[in-house]
Amino acid sequence: MPAAFPSSVPTIPTAPLTARIRDALRAIVGEKGLIEDEHGMQPYVTDWRGLLVGGAGAVVRPGSTEEVSKVVRLCHQHGVAIVPQGGNTGLMGGATPWPAHTGILLSLGRMNRVFDVDPVGYAMTVEAGCVLQTLQETASQHDRFLPLSLGAQGSCMIGGNLSTNAGGVQVLRYGNARNLVLGLEVVLPNGDVWDGLRALKKDNTGYDLKHLFMGAEGTLGIITKAVLKLWPAPKDICTAWLAVRDPSAALEILSEAHAASEDNVGSCELMSRSAIDMILRHIPGVQDPLRADTPWYLLLEWSSARARRDGTEGMSEKMEQFLADQLEAGRVLDAAIGQSVGQSRNMWRIREGAAAASRAEGPGLSYDVSVAISKIPDFIDKGLKAVLDILPSIRPYPLGHIGDGNLHFSFMGPVGMDQQTLNQYTAAITRAVNDLVTSMGGSISAEHGIGIDKLDELSHYRSKTELDIMRTIKRALDPQNIMNPGKVLRV
Ligand SMILES: Cc1cc2nc3c(=O)[nH]c(=O)nc-3n(C[C@H](O)[C@H](O)[C@H](O)COP(=O)(O)OP(=O)(O)OC[C@H]3O[C@@H](n4cnc5c(N)ncnc54)[C@H](O)[C@@H]3O)c2cc1C
Repeated sequence: MPAAFPSSVPTIPTAPLTARIRDALRAIVGEKGLIEDEHGMQPYVTDWRGLLVGGAGAVVRPGSTEEVSKVVRLCHQHGVAIVPQGGNTGLMGGATPWPAHTGILLSLGRMNRVFDVDPVGYAMTVEAGCVLQTLQETASQHDRFLPLSLGAQGSCMIGGNLSTNAGGVQVLRYGNARNLVLGLEVVLPNGDVWDGLRALKKDNTGYDLKHLFMGAEGTLGIITKAVLKLWPAPKDICTAWLAVRDPSAALEILSEAHAASEDNVGSCELMSRSAIDMILRHIPGVQDPLRADTPWYLLLEWSSARARRDGTEGMSEKMEQFLADQLEAGRVLDAAIGQSVGQSRNMWRIREGAAAASRAEGPGLSYDVSVAISKIPDFIDKGLKAVLDILPSIRPYPLGHIGDGNLHFSFMGPVGMDQQTLNQYTAAITRAVNDLVTSMGGSISAEHGIGIDKLDELSHYRSKTELDIMRTIKRALDPQNIMNPGKVLRV
């Protein structure tokens, strides 16, 4: 994860926003939909980490698909580049314009309507600017469950979640964002609206276009609406915090948990002691659920849509028995079960606090990688060795969604080392980590995407054939390269 824009700047369109174009934008979105002063634009052009600060001629905040379409058509006519943005919580710089960007930043934040919740059909139709947590709450009011869940859910928006194909802590059971979508509406780079807002589970009528736009990080068009899948609301939930022998034991525990919970494993998150200590240092109010001093921990959650009935075994009883068995097998060293909503919430606050704590900690590096689940222990051993060989005083704090084979292979800089000095080691460490992950058949970006940060890594590791296909699609849909230029691909 480089901490700055790559030195080699991609070609991006730099058609300026003339006074006439500004007037035309104002006529479409009104005064309240246009921000032109530097101070007002600052939060939009700065990434969540505070590491990248880009440029923009204006921030445009349309209030409807029709307005998005008119804005994009205007930009298309004048060759003006567009950076789409949702909640601006992305960790790869995808929503941050390049400093040379003279076009607009298009924020979806005003488009936050829920059009329809269909509890019988287990679906809801929403606008792209809806905040994820609001959608979770809306589903819950209808006794339904929207399983997408991540630390940034209080501010990330569904359009951003779909554009990054976000993962989070429930992928193990429900799949990533891509799997939660039935239909999409997208404004294409020429301003046309593609209406794919269908609520169909089955639809084999040619190419499945929605999958082109999910995970495209805004480079192929702007997602304006989506039909999301819903599930039955969980009624019986048990959250546990386990000190485990090592990552191999964590995998064995997960493997056995599926049957023991009767297929009710919702989340399984691996955390190192150093990650927990860092989070406890920076996130106020969280408490260590176990005062153990072992290097590895698991947050394990089981949930069932069936309410616990008196006299029957619920999730807690099943979990208790399971943990006793795992203690006896030597895989679990100590464990705590959340006895109240507050205790369970505390466990989740620790896990969800990782990104904020790492931002507060200061200079560091983080690699969002995945390998086949069974290869995780080997990857951790080899990866730590490779990185510590390059910089022995770097401080690892690995954690991740172990049930998805997804590790956040993260490091705090050595005590006292500033970002500039750490940057001198970044290239060598990045190459070592990504070479290892590739040699093990893994991915250099499991869930955060490519954005700006991994632009050069993508072209290094994807084959020529794959890159050619991606460029062909990009050029066909966006021949002027105005849609989030200089992200994901150099075209
Ligand atoms: C504390 C924290 C925890 C996180 N945890 C996770 C996690 O567990 N799993 C995970 O996957 N990610 C995680 N993230 C990363 C981030 O929250 C996700 O990538 C999220 O999906 C981004 O949503 P957003 O609305 O903030 O998008 P933004 O950051 O605004 O944009 C992300 C990308 O999508 C594009 N985009 C945004 N909206 C649209 C749209 N409507 N149409 C087209 N393109 C669009 C942008 O141009 C950009 O390329 C975390 C981030 C933080 C800060």
